[in-house]
Amino acid sequence: PTGVPHFYSPALQDRTLYFLRIESEMHRALEQQEFELWFQPKFRLSDLTMAGAEALIRWRKPSGEMVSPGVFIPIAENAGLIQRIDNWVIEAACAAMARWRKSGLDCPRIAVNITPQDLAADGFVPWLTQLISEYGLTPSCIGIEMTETMLMDVDQNIQDSLKALRDYGIRVSIDDFGTGYSSLSYLQQLPADILKIDKSFIDHVPNNGGGQLITNAIIALGEQFGLELVAEGIETREQLEYLRKRGVQTGQGYLVSRPLPEPAFIEAMKNGLSISQASEAPHEMKK
Ligand code: C2E
Ligand code: MG
Ligand code: MG
Ligand code: MG
Repeated sequence: PTGVPHFYSPALQDRTLYFLRIESEMHRALEQQEFELWFQPKFRLSDLTMAGAEALIRWRKPSGEMVSPGVFIPIAENAGLIQRIDNWVIEAACAAMARWRKSGLDCPRIAVNITPQDLAADGFVPWLTQLISEYGLTPSCIGIEMTETMLMDVDQNIQDSLKALRDYGIRVSIDDFGTGYSSLSYLQQLPADILKIDKSFIDHVPNNGGGQLITNAIIALGEQFGLELVAEGIETREQLEYLRKRGVQTGQGYLVSRPLPEPAFIEAMKNGLSISQASEAPHEMKK
């Protein structure tokens, strides 16, 4: 039957070799510090003031080539490298936050993406809480983002770690919400503070033959469960207006800012955010 993978095929072998190459290059990347942390502003939909930032990893190879996290993070998860990478990201995020505070810049919160493997690791919770206190940060200014599927992991260890971090004051977001097939009964005991509505739903807002229905349903769910809502992937003024009218408080997306390297992010903290020219559709441009 179709769809059943062969044990050997040139395509599969190519993929395997590709993964192995990326894997060995990631070891080098960790040692040679080829990873960078970029920051995408999150903003209040009401007035575009900065609500925080999401820390997003970037990999710049010595050749200058940039590799997308969408490519290497899944490979790192399979290769058992994700914990080292995420620990690097978390420490870099805390260090950046502390630096900004010291120079009087205000970023209300920074969120990092983590995976269940991080939470399952021995000593992760004390490591993170100590890191936060060593950098002199308030726990509530640190956030962790996990995808819905990952949060459904039944492993008691993982649930306990998450609970401990929330009790400590770290803010937990469910990332890419709506894509992970949660059962509604599961939602009732969501171990989270924030729902991030996935970009794939925002893409259908405001009006595309009812495409916004899922977004509306997620907004209603979030309100029912007392969760803060963050819309990701806002690319147009129409999306911004639509979400604002429906009471979504916070957003993120190219309309206001792409992920930025640290110097550009610092400029954004100093100068404030606005709708960026580059993001506007041609017909909206001033003549
Ligand atoms: P995510 O956590 O859902 O991050 C949002 C992704 O959407 C980012 O892609 C961001 O650049 C992109 N994005 C934001 N606004 C817009 C928009 O308006 N339009 C479009 N087209 N895209 C937008 P990125 O940086 O490539 O990250 C991809 C994924 O890689 C992340 O998805 C996250 O799951 C993972 N990732 C990134 N950094 C880390 C990390 O440090 N650790 C772990 N474990 N995963 C990470
Ligand atoms: Mg995220
Ligand atoms: Mg997301
Ligand atoms: Mg997403």
